[in-house]
Amino acid sequence: MESLNPINYKRIVILTGAGISAESGIQTFRDSGGLWENYPVEEVATPDAFHRDPHKVWRFYSHRRHQAGLATPNRAHEALVDFAQKINPHLFLITQNVDYLHQRAGGDILSPHCMHGSLHQSRCTACQKVHLDDIVYYDESGRFNPKHSGLFSTLPTNALTVENLKISEELPLSPCCHELLRPHIVWFGEVPFHLEEIFRRLEHCELFISIGTSGQVYPAAGFLQTAKSHGARTVLINQEAHHHNPYVDQFLEGKAGEVVPKFFKTT
Ligand code: NAD
Repeated sequence: MESLNPINYKRIVILTGAGISAESGIQTFRDSGGLWENYPVEEVATPDAFHRDPHKVWRFYSHRRHQAGLATPNRAHEALVDFAQKINPHLFLITQNVDYLHQRAGGDILSPHCMHGSLHQSRCTACQKVHLDDIVYYDESGRFNPKHSGLFSTLPTNALTVENLKISEELPLSPCCHELLRPHIVWFGEVPFHLEEIFRRLEHCELFISIGTSGQVYPAAGFLQTAKSHGARTVLINQEAHHHNPYVDQFLEGKAGEVVPKFFKTT
């Protein structure tokens, strides 16, 4: 298999999935011990689930905010920032992750396109305004006990605060309309964000790199094929060996924290 070097390419698109954050201690979805083993998707990650039982959904996302607040970016997140800073400031980074770790590693440099939303944002269910929100509404025992997660080292001035929180029946209300807040997450059955821009980039990229994603959630699962069919070279990085895929030019097997810094080396 040929060996591709990202230094030789200008228009690079990178797609990351839960695997890039696994070594930061954030659970993936589909590996054994993954998130869906404990929380069936239809009970916590669909619009219907929120309609039926918003308390349960907020408990689930409180748990995930708590976990994300404890995690720190790993060598793979850092290597991408380093590469963008020293070699290619025009990297186009798409992430399916909602954990904020790319931003914490260097969001100003990479500006990740979070196609499935972000754990650190909530949205008003009335006017759809998005608010910065790191509050963990329910504690790990499931009790309503709002506290900041520590996701932001300094709380931005436009973020929601525990002190000014509006609450009804142990659920958070938006500061704009005083209506129910929901996580700003793309749930199953909803349309991902930034798709128009993403497809435009995929159709014009020279190199497409997929890191730590199982390729089972569409539309992201189709990005590799789209990039390849528009002439890009393609690289897949995953800890699991993959079955032969005609759209992959180079497969790199191993943990993201080891493989990504080697692949994106800047010296
Ligand atoms: P996934 O759980 O379906 O797949 C993870 C993939 O990463 C697997 O193929 C696995 O073999 C690989 N992997 C695990 N550890 C790795 C490591 N250390 N290095 C390299 N590869 C590793 O996750 P997905 O493909 O991202 O898609 C599922 C959905 O899960 C997405 O919608 C995403 O929004 C969501 N999700 C996000 C997070 C997060 O924000 N960190 C966590 C779990 C799930």
